Amino acid sequence: MTEAMPQFQLIEPSTVDEAVAALQDAPGAVLCAGGTDLVVQLRQGLSDPGTLVNLSGVAALSTVEETNKGLRVGAGVTLAEIAGMEAVANGYPAVAKAAQSVAGPSHREVATLGGNLCLDTRCVYFNQSHWWRKSNSFCLKNRGDICHVAPKGNRCRAAFSGDMAPALMVHGAEIEIAGANGVRRIALADFYHEDGAEHINLEPCEIVVAAHLPPPGPTSDYEKIRVRGSIDFPLAGVAVACNKLDDGTAQFTVAVTGTNSKPLLVELPGDLNAEEPNDAFFATLEKQVQKAVSPQRTTTIAPHYRRLSVSALTVRLAEGLL
Ligand SMILES: Cc1cc2nc3c(=O)[nH]c(=O)nc-3n(C[C@H](O)[C@H](O)[C@H](O)COP(=O)(O)OP(=O)(O)OC[C@H]3O[C@@H](n4cnc5c(N)ncnc54)[C@H](O)[C@@H]3O)c2cc1C
Repeated sequence: MTEAMPQFQLIEPSTVDEAVAALQDAPGAVLCAGGTDLVVQLRQGLSDPGTLVNLSGVAALSTVEETNKGLRVGAGVTLAEIAGMEAVANGYPAVAKAAQSVAGPSHREVATLGGNLCLDTRCVYFNQSHWWRKSNSFCLKNRGDICHVAPKGNRCRAAFSGDMAPALMVHGAEIEIAGANGVRRIALADFYHEDGAEHINLEPCEIVVAAHLPPPGPTSDYEKIRVRGSIDFPLAGVAVACNKLDDGTAQFTVAVTGTNSKPLLVELPGDLNAEEPNDAFFATLEKQVQKAVSPQRTTTIAPHYRRLSVSALTVRLAEGLL
């Protein structure tokens, strides 16, 4: 059962500076981009901000620039646009494929890159109506004291389930963040924490303004498992990039979503001789991925199934890229 929308003040800035100033003027204000996740949260009573700052009128967030330094994609660019961009499909295939796999077609027309990277973590005990959560005494992520997934632990285990982050991470993406003290740029992998209640590294008045991809290099691919094949969050998603070197070896980079409170880059065994793909290498790769991830009871699908799926997907993608 969904609740009525809460009352809020709506601010509609037209520049990034105005958006930052709006956040400063109204402590606790929440940013809204496409609204595809946020509006559901508002209707479920998971967020009740007095002020919403609507980013859709900030034209500077919707630009894409291709230079010899790579590709800069504004946070307000929609996932449908990203999925359809030739520069993305040719230079960063995993990114195009991840964008194409988010939610359903109508979501992707308005869902933005920034909203996807800043997506809240998800859990069966959190993404529920107010009355459902109240009858369970709420949870550590929202109004409660206990994480029902891991009651003896001291942190929230909700899982990050955005598709775009791992695909960007295997290509070494950075993100650009604007705030009251100017602009900073960090590796996307450093943007996240392993804590479901506080998983992103953003100060209160900061906004993600763009993602930067270095010039194309490795080839890549992305795949996910989900309950409904046509529209759903990843129960587990994997991006793999493969860099084939002149000496005949191949280097892989793997990043995973849906299994932890943050998207994670997986530490891998050494290089593979690309001309002689070797079973021992892929067996080690499979084990390393299984060891790195920690799926919990945050979805109705068993953690062990998600752990095995993520490693099997990794091997399938890696073999396909050779
Ligand atoms: C039925 C359904 C299925 C879905 N399936 C998927 C899926 O398969 N994969 C997936 O990844 N997602 C999925 N989603 C979630 C969501 O649609 C996407 O993640 C989408 O990309 C979010 O973007 P948005 O612009 O709509 O974000 P919003 O809903 O507007 O915002 C999401 C969060 O990001 C914050 N935010 C937005 N922009 C910025 C910014 N520039 N700087 C800082 N913070 C910002 C907001 O404050 C909010 O907390 C699904 C949602 C629904 C309802």
